[in-house]
Amino acid sequence: MNGEILAARRVRILFFIHNAEAAMAKLSITINKTRCIGSGECVETAPAVFQLGADGKSEVVNATGAGDSIIVSAARSCPVKAITVVDEDAGVQLFPPPKK
Ligand code: SF4
Repeated sequence: MNGEILAARRVRILFFIHNAEAAMAKLSITINKTRCIGSGECVETAPAVFQLGADGKSEVVNATGAGDSIIVSAARSCPVKAITVVDEDAGVQLFPPPKK
């Protein structure tokens, strides 16, 4: 990965951290272990929420370890769409977007 991509990711992460305190709903985060390929994008985006387990696949270590936007961004970054995020307070699936 080159320096420009890393710098862009840092800016994006800092932007989300800056805005994270504004939105903290009670989220349900689930990982489809069958789909997960252990690529680590979710860990890179939200390391306080996701970590790779002994099986090499992602697991949720702290569902409140980051703001909602960071967690949704982590789910969005997953190349195999293994992460589902639901706002339990509102009863709304945040990612992937519900089918209409
Ligand atoms: S980004 Fe997706 S595939 Fe990669 S470790 Fe996280 S859940 Fe698994």
